[in-house]
Amino acid sequence: MTIGSMENVEVFNSEGKGRGLKATKEFWAADVIFAEPAYAAVVFDSLVTVVCHTCFKRQEKLHRCGQCKFAHYCDRTCQKDAWLDHKKECSALKRHGKAPNENIRLAARIMWRVEREGSGLTEGCLVSVDDLQNHVEHFGEEEQKELRVDVDTFLQYWPPQSQTFSMQYISHIFGVINCNGFTLSDQRGLQAVGVGIFPNLGLVNHDCWPNCTVIFNNGSHEAVKSMFHTQMRIELRALGKISEGEELTVSYIDFLSVSEERRQQLKQQYYFDCTCEHCQKGLKDDLFLGVKEDPKVVRLCREALQKQEPVFADTNLYTLRMLSVVSEVLSYLQAFDEASHYARRMVDGYMKLYHPNNAQLGMAVMRAGLTNWHAGHIEVGHGMICKAYAILLVTHGPSHPITKDLEAMRVQTEMELRMFRQNEFMYHKMREAALNNQPMQVMAEPSMEPAPALFHKKP
Ligand SMILES: [Zn+2]
Ligand SMILES: [Zn+2]
Ligand SMILES: [Zn+2]
Repeated sequence: MTIGSMENVEVFNSEGKGRGLKATKEFWAADVIFAEPAYAAVVFDSLVTVVCHTCFKRQEKLHRCGQCKFAHYCDRTCQKDAWLDHKKECSALKRHGKAPNENIRLAARIMWRVEREGSGLTEGCLVSVDDLQNHVEHFGEEEQKELRVDVDTFLQYWPPQSQTFSMQYISHIFGVINCNGFTLSDQRGLQAVGVGIFPNLGLVNHDCWPNCTVIFNNGSHEAVKSMFHTQMRIELRALGKISEGEELTVSYIDFLSVSEERRQQLKQQYYFDCTCEHCQKGLKDDLFLGVKEDPKVVRLCREALQKQEPVFADTNLYTLRMLSVVSEVLSYLQAFDEASHYARRMVDGYMKLYHPNNAQLGMAVMRAGLTNWHAGHIEVGHGMICKAYAILLVTHGPSHPITKDLEAMRVQTEMELRMFRQNEFMYHKMREAALNNQPMQVMAEPSMEPAPALFHKKP
């Protein structure tokens, strides 16, 4: 049964999963199935002065809204683009005295939009915010309590002259934010900076081995001609061939956990039992738990740590998490040579586990490539940067800033590699000189957090 449709997709009832989206034509890897602007979005409380409230780029110098002194923007263009969504917020902030938390701000932005446009379907949306799932009925005691606090705070913040919404509707909106709030990242994809609601994305069901990925693009208005400007948006991109009529899926969580843990996480955060093929058959679980030799895991583990002897297979989750932490920390400390060996092992393991076009894999290969390049392993470094570039062309697309960075690195390392092969001595001389001239680009601070989930969830 078809419920609604856009050019490339239509809503249908997916067996056992409720609503879903399916393709109405064939797609190939890297195809953009749809792009969707945020219905509403806000910057995280901790970053309101360093991230633009319109495009969510992290910038050195931002302009402050002269009225509320709360909103910050890259420039006049971003400020102008924000006004429709910020106007009521601006006066509410002034009246309220201090800014409420991100949840409240997002709920209010959604409701001002509903007030403005009505609660029906808005242009380009297959589903209205009224029809998005809220899962309030699944809330535990603690979540219920938080919800009541949020509703109370919201009512203090919401201006009396704005449209009155029922308590039930306000709770619905907070429920929607809780299960559909999508995490927005800065232009380098390094940091989660905000949360937004994208109704169409909310229709895409989960699969641990999905056929699509979703990527956030901050947009750009750098081109001189405004017709080439792009808006902040998410893109649903195909990871491989998708047939007409096939259901479109994304993964709500990182793949690197055994199926039992993934299922627990999905149940706890998204309130459903994953019935995907990888969970049902426990595919790759043997690799995740792979031990090279015999059991007695605990003793071996301790000995392995002491002797640094390879006991676990390099696809073992414990080994991979260790390798990831160690290589990131060493890179940060600029001990690139040692870091590069760990990074290589980690990438080898990841390649056996992740979907070949997984975005997390692409980012990990990119970081490992950079580490190897810093360590002077130009051949390995260049190879990894090419590999990462190929993945990001699919997952992020050619116009994404990270892909552009990678393209520049690919050209640079290719040039260096050619020089290295012609004259190794000259290559090292040139490199030394270049490093002396230019302080090295410092690696991002290592984050010990697990890979980010698709939707913004309280841990
Ligand atoms: Zn901006
Ligand atoms: Zn303002
Ligand atoms: Zn699954």
